[in-house]
Amino acid sequence: MDRTVNIGPVNINKSTFTVIAGPCSIESEEQFLPTAQFVHEKGASLVRGGIFKMRTQPDAFQGLGDQAIALVKKMKESLQVPFIAEITDPRQIDLLMPVVDCFQVGSRNMYNYELLKELGKYQIPVLLKRGFSALIKEWVKAADYVISSGNEDVILCERGIRSFEGPLRNTLDLSAVAYLKAHTSFPVFVDPSHGTGRPELIIPMSKAAVACGADGLMVEVHPNPDKALSDGFQALNYESFGSLMDQLRPFLSLMNKELSHG
Ligand code: PEP
Ligand code: MN
Repeated sequence: MDRTVNIGPVNINKSTFTVIAGPCSIESEEQFLPTAQFVHEKGASLVRGGIFKMRTQPDAFQGLGDQAIALVKKMKESLQVPFIAEITDPRQIDLLMPVVDCFQVGSRNMYNYELLKELGKYQIPVLLKRGFSALIKEWVKAADYVISSGNEDVILCERGIRSFEGPLRNTLDLSAVAYLKAHTSFPVFVDPSHGTGRPELIIPMSKAAVACGADGLMVEVHPNPDKALSDGFQALNYESFGSLMDQLRPFLSLMNKELSHG
């Protein structure tokens, strides 16, 4: 039996397909609000935006932190669309809870069992990304930490694993998606942005994600990728995101899935 997870008004089940889109990081009102509006108009039913970023370099942009909260509130008031952001530490729960409809646990924190247990105490869905070197069984056990603390609403998100491949940021493991759909009841999403690190691969890999049974996508979009403060090299611009949404539709109908409403 497939689990159904509701994120605010968005119903994730075997007949729906949910697109989460937005910038890697919230940078400013001028960047975030128009991006949120654009992706929502094009059919994304959840907006994403990084508030606390886990960057490899300590001197890289770490996210606006608490300064982003007012921008998220403004976005939600004007668009009435649910919002997801990564939580990197349990001490952020009180700050994020009033504005997030789903907590994202990032690849680097998939093994952070204290964070997972803490998120299990709340009734807010959790999107759990795969650790970039995690076995599928370790990933599923990480999800079980959230569930066994009381929160059943867990979505798994494949975001690519480390391999020997050079030109790709990661290797998007779509066989893991098909495996999870065959052997578990979790909704499974795919993040082709981090999964490939290359904008020209996002449309083909998104179609492949639909074909292998994914329940949704998480995609990074920026109005001006060259100027982005994080992950600009992999962001879709508005035009490419519009094209992605147009090109997905026939694949969704072949798989008997409809874009979720939000
Ligand atoms: C993100 O979605 O912005 C992110 C940092 O992803 P990941 O945890 O998959 O690297
Ligand atoms: Mn990113």
